[in-house]
Amino acid sequence: MAKLRQMNIVKSPDEIENDEIAKHVLVDVKKVLTHTKAQRSKDSLVTKHIILAAVSGESVTENRCKKKLASKLEVPIRRLSGECMKQRKLILESTHDRAIVEARYPIFKSQADMFAETLCPKGTNKEHYKTECLNRKCQNCGVANLLLMPEENDTTDEAIEVTWEKCSAREEIQSSYFQRTEVSLHVSIIYRHAVLEYDGKDSTTENPNIIKEHFFVVSNDDKHDHHFVHEVQNQIKEYLNSISYNVSTMHEYTDGCQCQYKSRHCMGDVSNGQQDFGYDRLIRNYFETSHAKGPQDAAGGYVKRQADLAILRRKATIQTAHDFYKFANENLQETRDSSVCLRRVFRFIDNIDRNRDRYFKSIPQNRNIHQIISEREGLLSVRNLSCYSCDSCLLNMAHSCQHTELVGLVKNIQTEKERGCAIVEDISPDDDFEVVDMIRKGSLVASYTDDEGEDF
Ligand SMILES: [Zn+2]
Ligand SMILES: [Zn+2]
Ligand SMILES: [Zn+2]
Repeated sequence: MAKLRQMNIVKSPDEIENDEIAKHVLVDVKKVLTHTKAQRSKDSLVTKHIILAAVSGESVTENRCKKKLASKLEVPIRRLSGECMKQRKLILESTHDRAIVEARYPIFKSQADMFAETLCPKGTNKEHYKTECLNRKCQNCGVANLLLMPEENDTTDEAIEVTWEKCSAREEIQSSYFQRTEVSLHVSIIYRHAVLEYDGKDSTTENPNIIKEHFFVVSNDDKHDHHFVHEVQNQIKEYLNSISYNVSTMHEYTDGCQCQYKSRHCMGDVSNGQQDFGYDRLIRNYFETSHAKGPQDAAGGYVKRQADLAILRRKATIQTAHDFYKFANENLQETRDSSVCLRRVFRFIDNIDRNRDRYFKSIPQNRNIHQIISEREGLLSVRNLSCYSCDSCLLNMAHSCQHTELVGLVKNIQTEKERGCAIVEDISPDDDFEVVDMIRKGSLVASYTDDEGEDF
């Protein structure tokens, strides 16, 4: 075992813990960066510089993950250049409250010191930090005072073929010009290896070159149900096919909204990921609902703003969802900073197929589940948390995960279909729904109510 650890094949509990912390720190650092960006004051600028300096230290540089880090944090790579200490010193020198700032942002001697700063101390004689602290559930610790992050776990990126994030789908155009137009804009962020013929550069396991793209699905369909999600998955699969990108394992990261990605029907669709899309495995990871706000919202906001501006400048007439798609497709595919996003891809759907035999019974303890894996037709492996750090999970053998004490045991669930008319009888309290959700071709909905406040 010790030998395997030495060879970097098996991770020690400490390393696992560090990975876990690193993941959270990354999320938090990004949150802080977004916040400081919005403030635009001198102080917030200093803060931003200090954070960036702090996260581009020797280890990040030596391990060549600077580029990936820059793209994860959505900052230009040049912001992460230069030596950490040097940059930080410079910034401290130009700060009039140097002593105060330095006390708040000390120059850490090691990553361990850095981690420790964001967590409550380990208890006496305790080997591990408390789970609440690692899960950021603890009230007494966190990165509220800003902090640092270690290099990312390289193996994670290599293992992920493609990941995507999606916002809770529909975003209405804010501008008054659009008041009569409803446009659904679904945003996915795709991370994948570069394809030489298409991207102009190659990518291998030894020398990964990760491409990031924003994938937009524009539609006049305003229902963001599991049928819509399924159509988006279709569009992405077709796009990947069109660039000859072969995916064996698709990793999706979505929010955990019970009425969309985490509805029982949407989970049932995932259980059919193999037959629908030809992936060996479709893995969906659920964020806690509030955590999924971020880059995808910014990406959608940018596109909408550009449309608004074009209208204000009388450079475009946009009256329908298709006009919006056409404008975006013709004008917004190129990006300014390819390290943040290489290109924007737009697709238009005017008709969502809702005549699918895909309605499922609810999955027990849905709320606790944060990762679902398609095994074979209708069969899902589910667990409370995702693991991307042990060998078993990286090799798609979640059943022999080595971190079950942190992420929970894998359970197998056979998803069960429910017939059209059964939907009315079987509404679990977990699902929010509307009557229109039940109406499909070939179904009859009968309902009665004695509640005068209801609209049916
Ligand atoms: Zn704590
Ligand atoms: Zn929702
Ligand atoms: Zn694992």
